[in-house]
Amino acid sequence: MSHRVLLAGLFHETHTFLEGETTLADFQCRRGAELLTAAGDGSPLAGILDIATERGWTVLPAIDLRASPGPIMADEVVEEYCRSVDEIVKRELPAGLDGVCLVLHGAGASRGFPDVEFEVIRRLRGVIGPDIPIGGVLDLHGNISREFAEATQAFVAYRQNPHADACEAARDGARVLDRLMASGERAKTVWAQPAVMWPPTGTGTAFEPMLTLEREARTIERTVPGVLAVNVFAGFSFADTRETGVSFTAVVVGDTTPAVQSLQRLCDIAWTLREAGNVREESLAAVLDRIQAGDLPAGSRSAGPIVLAEPSDNIGGGAPGDGTILLGALVDRGFQNAVVAIDDPLAVRALETIAIGGRTRLVLGGRGSSLSGGAIHLEVELLSRGPGRFQLEDPHSHLASMCGDSFDMGPCAVVRAVGRVPATGAGPATVAAQRPSSAGQPGIRVLITSYKTPPFDLAQWRSQGIVPEEVDVIAVKAAVAHRKVYDPIARAHFTVETPGPCTSNLASLPWKRVRRPVFPLDTAHPGE
Ligand SMILES: [Zn+2]
Repeated sequence: MSHRVLLAGLFHETHTFLEGETTLADFQCRRGAELLTAAGDGSPLAGILDIATERGWTVLPAIDLRASPGPIMADEVVEEYCRSVDEIVKRELPAGLDGVCLVLHGAGASRGFPDVEFEVIRRLRGVIGPDIPIGGVLDLHGNISREFAEATQAFVAYRQNPHADACEAARDGARVLDRLMASGERAKTVWAQPAVMWPPTGTGTAFEPMLTLEREARTIERTVPGVLAVNVFAGFSFADTRETGVSFTAVVVGDTTPAVQSLQRLCDIAWTLREAGNVREESLAAVLDRIQAGDLPAGSRSAGPIVLAEPSDNIGGGAPGDGTILLGALVDRGFQNAVVAIDDPLAVRALETIAIGGRTRLVLGGRGSSLSGGAIHLEVELLSRGPGRFQLEDPHSHLASMCGDSFDMGPCAVVRAVGRVPATGAGPATVAAQRPSSAGQPGIRVLITSYKTPPFDLAQWRSQGIVPEEVDVIAVKAAVAHRKVYDPIARAHFTVETPGPCTSNLASLPWKRVRRPVFPLDTAHPGE
C-alpha cells in the first residue's frame, strides 16, 4: 500500500549577530504542488522526491520556504510555515498519514523562537501525536537541541562540507523514513553535545576535526547494532542560542545504550580536537605582502588564479557580501588581472545610464554591515552589464544544496577599477595601478551583483564574461564551501582576516544566550 507522506521545508541559517531581520518576503516560497517542481534539480527536496517516486509514496506537499543565510527571522516566517503545514495535516489526517519528511536547516532562529526547528516539530506533534515518524534532511551546520532530536525519528544530515552530498543525504533520510513506515519499527533519536563551537572556517570535512568525526560516525553506523544513521553537526557559530555549536545525533531502533556511548566518544574526540577547528586567518596585509613577494605556499601550482578567501564577509554564512576592504587593498597595491564580486544593487542601478566603455565615479559596497569598513569610492570603466541568471556548472556544488540547478544574481555589471577618488566627489582619481588600466590590461575587475551570490559556482563569473582560470587573483567571500570549485583551478589558496560579521574570532562577538562554559569562549572543560 502506498505510504502517505507529508512533505515540507523550512530552510534558513540564521546569523543572530547581524543587524536587521529576515522577513517572509525574503523567502522563496513554494506551496502545494509547486514543491514537486523541484524534482531533478539536485536540491535536498529533489532527493526526497527521488525516493518518494522509487518507493511509490503518496506525497502530500505543504510548503517550502527557503532563504539565503541572513539576520534573525521574523516570527511571521514560523507562523506562516506552521499555518500551511497545519492546514494540510488537518485536511489529510482523516485519510491517514504514515510519515512526515522535511527539509530543515537546523540553525533557524526567530525573534520569539530561538530554536525554530524544535518549535515547528513541537507544533506538528501537537496535531499528529507522538507515533507518526518525522524525518528528512538537515544541514551539517545545524545547531541541534536535545528537544528537537528526541521529538524526531529519521533525520539524516549532510556529511560533507562543502555540501556536495545534500541531495544524497536527503535520499538517505527519506530511505530511513521509508524503512520505519514499511517495518513499523519505532526509532528514537539520541543526542549529545560537547562544550565546543567552531567558526565555519574550521568545519570543512576534508580537514580536522570534521574529517575524524565523520569517519568515526560512519564506523558507528557500520558497527553499532540498531544504529540507522549517525549525524555530525558542526553547528553554526554566528547564532547566539543555547545549543550553538557542535552536536551529534543517532537514529536508533532497539536498545539505545550502545549508541549513547558512541556519541559520547564523538564528544570526547571533538573536545580533544577542539583547537584544530578554531581556525584563525592570516592578516590581509601579510598575505598580500607574500603574494607580491612571490612567496606562495609549498605545493602551489604554476598556473591558475591565486584565491583569496575572506571569511568575515562569507555570503554563505549570512554576511552582506559587500565589504570593500579587500578590494581597496588590491586597488591600493596596484594588483593586475584581479577579480572581486561585490553585492550592490544601488551601484548596478547607478551604472544603468553609463555607456559601455564609459567612465564614472561610483560609491560601491559597504552598506550591509557596520563592521566591514564602509563604501569604497572609485572611478570605474563600465565593461559590461546584463542579467545575472546562470545555470550551475557543478550540479553537486554547495550552491545546489541551497537553490537547485540555477541561480539569479539579479541585474549585474562588470567594471574596471581605474582608481580611488575622494569621498567628496571632487578631485582627480588616484590611479593606483602603477600601469594604468587600459584595453588589453585587465586591471582589477569588479562584478557587481543585485542579489548577493554565494561564490560556490564558477558560472557566476563565466556568465558575465570573466574566465576564472585566466585571472591572476580572485577574491572570494566565503569560508570553506567555495573550495570544491576553486581548489581545482587555483594556483594557491589563502584565507585572509578582514573585519566583518563572519569573523573567525568567535570571542569577539557579543554572546548572551549560549551555554557556558563553551570553547573557545571558555577554555575549561565543563567537567573540570
Ligand atoms: Zn551548511
